[in-house]
Amino acid sequence: MLKYYNYDIVFQEVPDEVTLAVNLSNCPNHCPGCHSPHLCKDIGNKLDEETISDMISKYNKSITCFCFMGGDANQDEVIKMAEYVHKTFDKKVAWYSGKQTFPKDITPFQYLKLGPYNPKYGGLDKKTTNQRMYKINNTKPVDITNRFWRKVI
Ligand code: SF4
Repeated sequence: MLKYYNYDIVFQEVPDEVTLAVNLSNCPNHCPGCHSPHLCKDIGNKLDEETISDMISKYNKSITCFCFMGGDANQDEVIKMAEYVHKTFDKKVAWYSGKQTFPKDITPFQYLKLGPYNPKYGGLDKKTTNQRMYKINNTKPVDITNRFWRKVI
């Protein structure tokens, strides 16, 4: 079972999309310097098809993308819920995973962020980052991490 702590509309996490991002709890990754250590705890409410449907209908006209933030403790369930969103709603689907490797099924996703947070290398906005953001073009992942790097003039 997936549990979520909260959700919000965000503009920077997925390039070119207005995203409903859901913060999932029970994160197993325990990255040093984690920005949200409370998300490693078993807290929040159940995230299932019904709750996702309620969330999306609330913001349906405003959002272009639905993003699972976390959920690495139960990757099968994230993939299942992503399939539900992909097939039921006219929205892109993204996943922020702390794992370094691609999930076993990437077909429900249009965006995948991979990699744990490492303070030595920084987040996606740092050119030194170990994390990667992929846009999935016809099941082919294309690295678009540089979209997060602002040009210094
Ligand atoms: S994956 Fe994200 S939430 Fe989980 S420990 Fe790492 S930084 Fe924190």
